[in-house]
Amino acid sequence: MDQIDKLAASMIARDQIIYLDNNATTQLDPAVIEEMLPYLTEYYGNPSSGYTFGAQVRRAIDLARERVAALLGCEPGEIVFTSCGTEANNAALNSALQLDPARQHVVTTAVEHSATRRHCETVAKRGGSVTVVGVDSDGNLDLEELERAITPQTAIVTAMWANNETGVLFPVEKIAEVARRKRVLFHTDAIQTVGKIPIRLKDSTINSLALSAHKLHGPKGVGALYVNKRSAFKPSLIGGSQENNRRAGTENVASIVALGKAAECAGAALAEENNRVRAMRDRFENGLRERIPNTFVNGDLAARLPNTTNLSFAGIESDAALVMFDRHQLCCSAGSACRTGSLEASYVLRAMNLPAERTRGSMRFSFGRFNTDADVDKALEIIPAVIAKLRAMAPATVTREPAVV
Ligand SMILES: *Cc1c(COP(=O)(O)O)cnc(C)c1O
Repeated sequence: MDQIDKLAASMIARDQIIYLDNNATTQLDPAVIEEMLPYLTEYYGNPSSGYTFGAQVRRAIDLARERVAALLGCEPGEIVFTSCGTEANNAALNSALQLDPARQHVVTTAVEHSATRRHCETVAKRGGSVTVVGVDSDGNLDLEELERAITPQTAIVTAMWANNETGVLFPVEKIAEVARRKRVLFHTDAIQTVGKIPIRLKDSTINSLALSAHKLHGPKGVGALYVNKRSAFKPSLIGGSQENNRRAGTENVASIVALGKAAECAGAALAEENNRVRAMRDRFENGLRERIPNTFVNGDLAARLPNTTNLSFAGIESDAALVMFDRHQLCCSAGSACRTGSLEASYVLRAMNLPAERTRGSMRFSFGRFNTDADVDKALEIIPAVIAKLRAMAPATVTREPAVV
């Protein structure tokens, strides 16, 4: 056996697991794979080449651009393909900071994904300045505080649409209005939003928006940045004239085709999936609340995505629960997925100012297209048993710090 076969032999297969971590990544839709494969095998021409073998590939990219634009309710020319969601977020911020050397101030929120949060830290280290707007205990933003944070030096306001840990939705259209009134750009990280709730960017004052294929049943390593056609944009990658001079580098054709198909599938399934996934999430959430005393839903008073629930189980450590869930092949996450292995409590829940016990025992469960009612049934057996076991192992914690309200 060669190395990769050995590795494969030791792997857990997809149908052995209960996958409740769709905000970390999603399963590829078979329809997406089917459409992308020929662009890895047959149609390998360079889309920039003048002959037909290249031009046909260019047309496949054009179709993908139209499909992504249709999902976002914008024009195809406003879509720039990128290598991932992180790149799309980085590119929007980098562009804004290049437009005017006198404007090097960024307004952001306390609960952004590391793709924005860490980038903002770097901006501050390099001589720019950053104002972080906080959230309340439900995860909601204070729009007046955000407005006050904008100064004549502000280049851009960046705020996520849906939070990856809690599913809490920010009122991005309202934020965009505030930014427009103050004459600053507004970017939104919509990576958790696209494909989950309807989006219509036509007539919106959002200047730019990031999305990522692997969060909507497409492949990893491809994303897109929407840039409003009236908004100025400076590229981060300089080289060839691909993507209408907004992102150099030979296109990742197969992945772009896949993102186009994923967008089309998401648009077609959106209304039905929204209901079906929401029903699964709600049955799961209510089922756990009935079965496990002292269970709290973080952000439940805010507007939320239909697929996400962030729960705190009083008296347990989420890291210990993760290990035990893993033994049952149940996949979910504690805190931020990008900080796995770290004992640091979720910065999102800390920003919500929840009691320490509540952040310590918090877990995120996120549903998607390929989850079934059977997954919910199994999870409703495994999770209460694991939590009861953990609480029995540490009774002192429960009695010392009883119900958290
Ligand atoms: C996953 C995610 C990202 C990063 O996207 P990649 O394509 O993995 O780089 C950024 N923001 C949010 C909210 C995400 O959920």
